[in-house]
Amino acid sequence: MQAKTGKRPFIGMHFKCCHVYTRIYLNRKRTAFVGWCPKCTRKAVVRISPDGTEDRFFTAD
Ligand SMILES: [Zn+2]
Repeated sequence: MQAKTGKRPFIGMHFKCCHVYTRIYLNRKRTAFVGWCPKCTRKAVVRISPDGTEDRFFTAD
């Protein structure tokens, strides 16, 4: 079995706007996690701090 997307890092994102939980993935530059609400397409960005954040769960207001 081989995943087409490879092991692309992602984090769990909870969109408060629509109460939807989904995954958002690391961008190509590997500077932030970027995703969109599946219902209203609100954009969510979680920048990766230089210190390295350990949290795996974020929320978008
Ligand atoms: Zn939404």
